[in-house]
Amino acid sequence: MPTDSWVNETLYAEWGQRFLVKRELARVKSDFQDIMVFESYTHGRVMVLDGVIQITEMDEFAYQEMIAHVPLLAHGDAKRVLIIGAGDGGVLKRVLQHRTVEKAVMVEIDGEVIRLAKEFMPGIAGDAWTDPRATVIVGDGIDYVRQAEAGSFDVVIVDSTDPIGVGEVLFTDEFYANAARLLSDRGLIVNQCGVPAMQADELRETALRRAKSFPDNWAYVAAVPTYVGGFMTLGWASKDASLRQVPVEEIRRRADVAGVLDTTRYWTPEIHVGAFNLPPYISMHLPR
Ligand code: SAM
Repeated sequence: MPTDSWVNETLYAEWGQRFLVKRELARVKSDFQDIMVFESYTHGRVMVLDGVIQITEMDEFAYQEMIAHVPLLAHGDAKRVLIIGAGDGGVLKRVLQHRTVEKAVMVEIDGEVIRLAKEFMPGIAGDAWTDPRATVIVGDGIDYVRQAEAGSFDVVIVDSTDPIGVGEVLFTDEFYANAARLLSDRGLIVNQCGVPAMQADELRETALRRAKSFPDNWAYVAAVPTYVGGFMTLGWASKDASLRQVPVEEIRRRADVAGVLDTTRYWTPEIHVGAFNLPPYISMHLPR
């Protein structure tokens, strides 16, 4: 693609955002998806999977901080963390920032996403790839959760593509049932649930599925500029309803102990607590 041509996001057939390309860096057809990485004028480097913007250097912090810090600090004693998807490594980096974490296993289906992120967006994961607490597996998340030992993780983070193509299995009853089994007694799972103004079905349907395996079900919000359409939702399911009602001062104390307080650009203790307060246009899609 020549410099100064436009990339149009194809997530929605009738509406979308576009980027002016400063320089194309990679275009690969992997066994699973079409991957493109380019340098933009406005958002730093950008990764696109099957025509959908996944990550930009300019605003990745908002998404990564909220999908990683909220579940770990809500749990309060998360030592073993399972990450599904997230091939760019940004969630792994935020999880390993917590000095309380002893083990992080990341299962990404597409080794090409990892390779291209390491080569062209190395700042996203930083040193996380070589952290001795990290295990990175190239494989399907559904296979991993089927085989994982009962009670072997405290937190599961699903940073997947939308429920189309390879990502679809991560939104099924079977996936959530296995997630409930592999989580410890106070365990919890969060998952990428799209932008409800445009993808309300994704939020509604995944919440109903999670509810079959977990007693406590909800969602929380984050505003990520390049996931266009307003707030995006992160689905939440846990075995213990008190985990999403931890007071702000306790969240601050835990963040201090974990070593993440004052390191963030989006997450704060107040935003953590406030993110569970949903506008009615979003909460109307969740089971009561
Ligand atoms: N944070 C960005 C977002 O939400 O758009 C980035 C998402 S991350 C790059 C999504 C990753 O999930 C992709 O690299 C994709 O290959 C991976 N993925 C999709 N289906 C998967 C599966 N069944 N098992 C493991 N990883 C999967």
